[in-house]
Amino acid sequence: MLILHNTSGLVHHLITKSDVADILHNALDSHILGLDECIRLFKSNDIYPIAMVSNILRQRLYGNTVTFVNNIILNYTNVCITYCKFCAFYRPVGHEEAYTLSLDEIVRRVLVSREMFGITQVLIQGGHNPNLKLEFYEDAFKAIKTRCPEVGIHGLSASEIDTIAKVERSSTKEVLARLKSAGLDSLPGAGAEILDDDVKAEISPLKIKSHEWLRIMEEAHELDIKSSATMMYGTVETEEQRARHIMKIAELQEKTRGFMAFIPWSFEPNKTRIQAEGLIRYSAGGFNLLKMIAISRIIFNGVIDHLQSSWLTNGIGMAQLALNYGADDFGGTLIGEEVVTATGSRSTELSAHKIIDAIKQIGFEVAERDNFYQTIKNY
Ligand code: SF4
Repeated sequence: MLILHNTSGLVHHLITKSDVADILHNALDSHILGLDECIRLFKSNDIYPIAMVSNILRQRLYGNTVTFVNNIILNYTNVCITYCKFCAFYRPVGHEEAYTLSLDEIVRRVLVSREMFGITQVLIQGGHNPNLKLEFYEDAFKAIKTRCPEVGIHGLSASEIDTIAKVERSSTKEVLARLKSAGLDSLPGAGAEILDDDVKAEISPLKIKSHEWLRIMEEAHELDIKSSATMMYGTVETEEQRARHIMKIAELQEKTRGFMAFIPWSFEPNKTRIQAEGLIRYSAGGFNLLKMIAISRIIFNGVIDHLQSSWLTNGIGMAQLALNYGADDFGGTLIGEEVVTATGSRSTELSAHKIIDAIKQIGFEVAERDNFYQTIKNY
């Protein structure tokens, strides 16, 4: 563990000598921090005192316990008309590698996973497929809930909701209300990338704008559909743009209290147009991951409860380290993941057994949680 109880004098000394000492002391006093402080944290490379504080904040909330969720991902279609430059997963309409899962296949995968792995959550995400109507999703959610009512449906990003609304010529709020009636429990935070329209114009010009992502999240929260918030960092954004992204989420959270967790993802450039065009060659790497986790815990302290350690794009070793930098949740087993797999990066699924071992290896206790971060079982 990074913080040892008998080194509090040393910890205090390191914090006080830091170039962001004032911010760190305010964080320890549980003050809500603002944009200027967030930017200064990103500009500081004094990572150890920042991490010490983020770890203290995590320990205050969760002690020595780390959670994970036993889940699968259903990437139900790779057909997409949005052509994001950072994505290696999508295929255009009519492409020979395009696929869409049938209703039977969706239900079969959930049933088999429930039987084999005891999953408690299905994470449903796919491309922006203009051929899928609202009934496709309603039928899928109803079928899952009929056969597996105990499995939480964490499904459809804000941009997928927007696509369905356009297909239906309906409003996003109406789509959300209908999906909730069909069994949708919560929304993943995907589609945000960086909530800055200059960044979006470069990496995903056809995707919903920042205010639309925020509006759809607000609508979901108003309907009592909880959600995650994410950030995909490591493309063309600046540190200020990262900080503004975090603050926009914090501002909405102050209003709705609908975000359950924040998940920063590191962009994986392999096989993407961004890499092919020479814009970005490498992923952001471990230092940036740990700094991002630590700053997120400090800024979201008292604002958003949970922070995931991003093993999917950073690997198990870095995710273990992230638990000492402020993360309290290891994320899911993610069985069946295909989006990050398309970049050819690392293994993109873990068994519950491997996650439990990974968490215990570094001295934490493990609790399995459900879709709403409620503890199901301690290991
Ligand atoms: S990230 Fe999503 S919306 Fe963008 S191209 Fe890939 S599948 Fe489509």
